[in-house]
Amino acid sequence: MNRIILHVDLDSFYASVEEFRKPGIKGKPIIICIYSGRTKDSGAVSSANYKARDLGIRSGMPIIFAKRLAKKKRAIFLPADRPYYQSVSQRIMDILEKEADAFQQVSVDEAYLDVSETTGGDWEKAIKIAKSIKKKIKEREKLTCSVGIGPNKLVAKMASKNMKPDGLTLVKTPEVRNFLNPLEVSKLHGIGRVTSFILEELGIKTIKDLAEFKVASIEEKLGKNKAKMLQERAIGIDNSTVEEQEAKQISRIGTLKKDSRDIDEIFKKIKELAKDLEKRIESRKVSFRTISLITIDTTLDIQTRSETIEQTQKLVPMISITKELLKDFLEENKYKQLRRVGVRVSNLIYRKKQRTLGDF
Ligand code: CA
Repeated sequence: MNRIILHVDLDSFYASVEEFRKPGIKGKPIIICIYSGRTKDSGAVSSANYKARDLGIRSGMPIIFAKRLAKKKRAIFLPADRPYYQSVSQRIMDILEKEADAFQQVSVDEAYLDVSETTGGDWEKAIKIAKSIKKKIKEREKLTCSVGIGPNKLVAKMASKNMKPDGLTLVKTPEVRNFLNPLEVSKLHGIGRVTSFILEELGIKTIKDLAEFKVASIEEKLGKNKAKMLQERAIGIDNSTVEEQEAKQISRIGTLKKDSRDIDEIFKKIKELAKDLEKRIESRKVSFRTISLITIDTTLDIQTRSETIEQTQKLVPMISITKELLKDFLEENKYKQLRRVGVRVSNLIYRKKQRTLGDF
């Protein structure tokens, strides 16, 4: 049975999240910035939507340059709100993880899914999964993503780049060479700027050139191992597996409707978070032994209180423990108002998912 890997990449993630959060800015160039705080405009662009990219604005660019390019274009510059993007990302990763035999989050907006077992190696079934993922993300978070499907991570990753935004590209095993051949060698995933410069110096322009180039000439410049690896990748070989990361703890944090020290009001929020967290625990197929209450007061001071219990997978029945921890907190901190609360489980025990033999 052939492997089937999906690579899911959210389209201009930060900018799209802001576009949905502040509907007034929709359709304008949006630039998300990390301000260094030294002067008003010092810092770098973190993400730009497609309208802003059309103006030549790219992530990593100094904000001052971006402002010059965006002059009189009614562009919107916003500071990056990472905790918010993180929470949206987490909800999306939960959607993705449920569809996969093995799941690997690569960054806040990118993940690999191994669906070999679920699909039994059937490409059509993989397309159905990809479409369903795109639909769910669109419905629940109003965001688009681009999905690449291929026989390994390398091809899946390059396929997701093929059509953006909102793309879906399938590259079946027999089509891999034709898909890769015409692309510029610098587009081969995993090739750095220096390597692609050296290859171009040798006269290698496309991935096809790389695949067919005399290996001895590449070895001379880059060494035996690297030359072999590059030529394998050029014909689409990648045996790396989708690596599940085992988190040490899983948590959910939320903001109260208003600052409060009302135990019932706060506990209501905790219960809500616990339900969400329990879904995550289920999808990760994990048991836990420690449950913690996280409190963040109006001065943004963070405290954590924990209780260790018998190993369990069910969080909701255990949630009264956090009410006791909350009581303790309120008694010991007579004048503090809470702004945010969180629930965390740790001391995790993983129950391994079954994998296909091809993974090893
Ligand atoms: Ca992205």
